[in-house]
Amino acid sequence: MAMKSGKVYLIGAGPGDPELLTLKAVRALKQADVVLYDALVDSRILTHARWSARRIPVGKRAGCKSTPQSFIERLMIQEALAGRTVARLKGGDPYVFGRGGEERRHLLAQGIDVEVIPGITAGIAAPARAGIPVTDRDCARGVALVTGHAAEGAPEPDWAALARSGLTLVIYMGVSRCAAICEALMQGGLSPVTPAAVVQSAWRQDERMHATTLGLLGADVARLGYGSPAVLVVGEVARHAEVAQLETKSQSR
Ligand code: SAH
Repeated sequence: MAMKSGKVYLIGAGPGDPELLTLKAVRALKQADVVLYDALVDSRILTHARWSARRIPVGKRAGCKSTPQSFIERLMIQEALAGRTVARLKGGDPYVFGRGGEERRHLLAQGIDVEVIPGITAGIAAPARAGIPVTDRDCARGVALVTGHAAEGAPEPDWAALARSGLTLVIYMGVSRCAAICEALMQGGLSPVTPAAVVQSAWRQDERMHATTLGLLGADVARLGYGSPAVLVVGEVARHAEVAQLETKSQSR
């Protein structure tokens, strides 16, 4: 008789602070025999797993040693087919620039049961940490979560269309291309005095943020040495950024 295959939980671990994990994520972690976790996942989150669970780092960070996606998927498939429960912990939300969609499709194609547990995505959590209400109704009609670093071969976001959209723009993976992105948004018609902010490592010990304008953001990010992981926030709502408050919060963490 064929052994019943295990199950894979694709879990959003939130932006960093372990208290921003969902109760559902904690429950799934407690059931796991194997935990595969990304580089952006805070180590305190792993304490929810059983002491006997295997913990495997499968981090992928720009410019650093990375675990190939195909290896991660093979490992999940192998463990699940052996009847084990696998927790795949991802930063933020698994479906927001997290490859959760492709992983789920590959697992389903192998007949493996998959459950996706949403997490709080950085594009919501990082502006919130900086006091920025992303859809403040006085000045934003909505928010767009955009990548600043498109997948290989994929077209760049249409910056000109985004500039005209009236939406708050939250740009992931954009800090290393910040100056070019800001330039493209201004070329598309956004004023250089549009409020803008960068929030790095939100909800982590080393969090920092800076509020400025679109015209200055590229130079400020370079001068102040901002780096990944960070989101850029562009739009009137960034006027509400509370830099001083964030600095106080960082000191008390
Ligand atoms: N699935 C994740 C995003 C993964 S892509 C999510 O939903 O949040 C990685 C990018 O997310 C980083 O380059 C950065 O732009 C953003 N990011 C992740 N954690 C962050 C944090 N704590 N603070 C600011 N940005 C973060």
